[in-house]
Amino acid sequence: MGNKTFAIIKPDAVKAGNTGKIYDRILQAGFNVLSAQLLKMSEVQAKGFYAVHRERPFFGDLVKFMTSGPCMVLALQKDNAVESWRKTIGATNPEDADENTIRRDFATNVQENAVHGSDSDENAEKEIAFFFSDGELLSDQ
Ligand code: UDP
Ligand code: MG
Repeated sequence: MGNKTFAIIKPDAVKAGNTGKIYDRILQAGFNVLSAQLLKMSEVQAKGFYAVHRERPFFGDLVKFMTSGPCMVLALQKDNAVESWRKTIGATNPEDADENTIRRDFATNVQENAVHGSDSDENAEKEIAFFFSDGELLSDQ
């Protein structure tokens, strides 16, 4: 089991002023931040990042949302990082998310759901590499 995952504090959360609160949740949950960057995704980046969803009906709106303003991308480290981060963020739809999860506390709806989390070790590696070069990551903490 891998020890890295990839997270995004999405544009809705940044716009609402929740970047710091969510960053604090990341640390409280025991993750080391190996790298973090504020950026505004281009359409090409958003389409590439979410390519797996390109046939879904919500794809166009999702790309519009993810390019609507700045977000923060993060490479996180912890034992069993992928599963642990998915537990910390909660279900995709905040109505289904457990209490005390980030999505329950900060998401607006199933699309504007505050944060991203990788769904497998393989995708975590791909997603980290999509936004960061090796030299931008702190070595294992
Ligand atoms: N999404 C959406 N409508 C839906 C389902 C998902 O807009 O009905 C968006 C939402 O922002 C979600 C992202 O697409 O986080 C990726 O969807 P996925 O099913 O991979 O959910 P996640 O892995 O983010 O929980
Ligand atoms: Mg997903």
